[in-house]
Amino acid sequence: MATRECPHCHLRVFMLKDGICPSCKRDVDDLSGVDVRKSRVELVATTQIPHVCVMCGTPTSRVIQVTGHDARPSVTYGPGGLSLFLSVLGLIFLPITVFFSERRDSHAIAGYSRSLPQCELCSTEEIKLISVDSLRETMTIVADREFISELRRLNG
Ligand SMILES: [Zn+2]
Ligand SMILES: [Zn+2]
Repeated sequence: MATRECPHCHLRVFMLKDGICPSCKRDVDDLSGVDVRKSRVELVATTQIPHVCVMCGTPTSRVIQVTGHDARPSVTYGPGGLSLFLSVLGLIFLPITVFFSERRDSHAIAGYSRSLPQCELCSTEEIKLISVDSLRETMTIVADREFISELRRLNG
């Protein structure tokens, strides 16, 4: 079963029967009220960002700092899950547990931020963040399709 981007919340989801998004409970085939110019795009650390507004695709030199925090700081198979596992094993592992816990906490607080172009006209609106993964230095945002095509052109 393939995942699909929900046009309403832009999450990549497995559809429920009848094409209902499990996240926002809306019909993925009902495009009423949907801005069809907008789509999700993943930015990795090496992604070159074009000089066009994320929100409308207009060329701009104005940039803003967008900061997000990891949506899943306590992901069970990461260091956090390991520390939980070690806690169960007992006090002998306490120093290690503390080390991993601190690491996870500072990681969660730090989040991830990067500069993104946003024109003057769009400055009253916030760039929509879908998810941030500070460990992988990855940020997924909702962007105008002109921004996305410029981004693809720039990054090959
Ligand atoms: Zn949805
Ligand atoms: Zn704009």
